[in-house]
Amino acid sequence: MSGFALHEIICDEKGIPVDYRFISINEAFEKLTGLKAKDIVGKRVLEVIPNTEKYWIERYGKVALTGEPMQFEEYSSVIGKYYEVRAFCPGKGRFAVIFHDITERKKNEEAILDAAREWRSTFDAVSDAVWLLDKDQRIVRCNRATAEFTGKENSEIVGKHCWEVIHNTEKPLTECPILRMNKSRQKESQELKIGNKWFLIKVDPIFDDKGKIRGAVHIVSNITDRKLSEEEKLKLEEQLHQAQKMESIGRLAGGVAHDFNNLLTPILGYAELLKMDVPRLDPRRDQIEQIKNAADRAKDLTKQLLAFGRKQMLELKVINLRSVVENFGKMLKRTIREDINIVFDLPDNAGLVKADVGQVEQVILNLTVNAQDAMLKGGMLKIKIENTILASDDVKEYPDVMPGNYVCMSISDTGHGMDKAVMEHLFEPFFTTKQMGKGTGLGLSMVYGIVKQHQGHLQVVSELGKGTTFRIYLPIVQEQEEVIIPSAPVKQSGRGGETVIIVEDNEMVGGIASLLLNNFGYRTIVFDKGEDCIRFIENGTDHVDLLLTDVIMPSINGKELYERVRGKRPSIKVLYMSGYDREVVAHHGIVGRGIHFLQKPFSAESLQEKVRETLDS
Ligand code: ADP
Ligand code: MG
Repeated sequence: MSGFALHEIICDEKGIPVDYRFISINEAFEKLTGLKAKDIVGKRVLEVIPNTEKYWIERYGKVALTGEPMQFEEYSSVIGKYYEVRAFCPGKGRFAVIFHDITERKKNEEAILDAAREWRSTFDAVSDAVWLLDKDQRIVRCNRATAEFTGKENSEIVGKHCWEVIHNTEKPLTECPILRMNKSRQKESQELKIGNKWFLIKVDPIFDDKGKIRGAVHIVSNITDRKLSEEEKLKLEEQLHQAQKMESIGRLAGGVAHDFNNLLTPILGYAELLKMDVPRLDPRRDQIEQIKNAADRAKDLTKQLLAFGRKQMLELKVINLRSVVENFGKMLKRTIREDINIVFDLPDNAGLVKADVGQVEQVILNLTVNAQDAMLKGGMLKIKIENTILASDDVKEYPDVMPGNYVCMSISDTGHGMDKAVMEHLFEPFFTTKQMGKGTGLGLSMVYGIVKQHQGHLQVVSELGKGTTFRIYLPIVQEQEEVIIPSAPVKQSGRGGETVIIVEDNEMVGGIASLLLNNFGYRTIVFDKGEDCIRFIENGTDHVDLLLTDVIMPSINGKELYERVRGKRPSIKVLYMSGYDREVVAHHGIVGRGIHFLQKPFSAESLQEKVRETLDS
């Protein structure tokens, strides 16, 4: 029921309506306002309701002045209710209002608005990107996080297909979960990698009353951190597995090598004894020599296995790696092929480490020889030393490495690099990609063992076609440096890389010498006649570093041979070998200082030592 009130318009002297006098009101007016007719009829509005809002009177005034009816919604703070009011002029000087209470409706509307506002704030407060799709999979609404996730403004997102926003593609990708959802009508989720971030997209279908898909909600969470920690965990497990594998192979190799060495001692000892019993010219001497040589090679092999198994005796001294590299570098420059440019980057302030110089040299040698092998067409070999801090984050994948101050020696090459398959087996003993006879697969396992035995750490970075860097970390010690390191000649299996011509009329000896030298990394060319060697030198252009020749031979003797070869190759060096002792050899003109001489029969070690010494002289 509507309230009704009829008023007389009261104007000021200019004829502007300023108030209204009640003429009559109906019952509903009384009910709606609580005002009674007997109290107000004949009174003015401002008298009855003194605080009546000024604009109210003005608005009525407009109607009263123009005679144009108006309809509006009004809140009366005096009465505390909302009204819908129609105001009009029923006759001259008369003004009437018809109104009804809309407080209830207004409250409902406000509640709806509040709910919408609340919903929006909640929607925007969600840290995941949430958007609503219509049935054509166009985004109709999205929250604030969507803009943050996609880096796009909301206005750029709304109206677009979800794949345009996520994948920047014009067509949906076949694996788009919403497409599957359309068929399966179930919730779907999918993990997606976009750029370097990982997302989980959950898709919830929205159905209409008839059960048809009306659209969907996408909830997209950034799961990059979780993914990274999963990846990290996997990597950690892999590292641990790798470490355990190396540990057990190491134990096995070390154990076998140790026992094997014990067995080799009597083999070598008895061979020596037998040799003493057999007269010089007896052909069985050669056979014994072969036993001995084979046993020597086996000894060498076990030595490398021992190194890998960390069972070597270390002679630890407080040293500066810089001096080791400087001293050893001189030797390297002579042994590494000339088409390889060796660059050193050695700081003055390198920290001191506790290490076995011979072993460190062995590490450098093995790594540089590998680098050389990887640079068949030449390249750059760089040896760098720097002080480094390994933070706990850097070593968390390596449970046996302590964080702290380290000296890092890196050996880089510009060679062919390695693929993942090679990298996985790199340090395993006998793993080689080289041809039979070219590689033993023991170089890096020795390096591994030596570094580990020094409480060090090692890392490899390699890319196919781009080269390789090995980094060796040795812990810095706070002790006084002990020694100035002498330039130590390389012993053991120092792989040379130089070319040696062997001239020896005894094929067996020539063969063994060649075999042993090959094993040490030298290239060899064997002749059983001096004439053949001269022909080779005269006609060929191959670079040759050393002539290893027998002294007493049927036609040309060693001395003559050397003279003629030197005529063509002035820089060649010579090492004479003979079964006769120095006295006899001296009769053949081979006397004086600076002459290098190898007594036959030679052990593998003495052969290598003499060859090295001669080359380095
Ligand atoms: P070997 O040199 O006798 O093959 P190593 O243990 O020294 O044995 O090396 C094992 C393998 O690792 C090599 O055969 C080679 O495939 C690979 N490798 C080692 N160092 C390098 C390098 N600097 N560049 C490329 N590959 C390398
Ligand atoms: Mg090697």
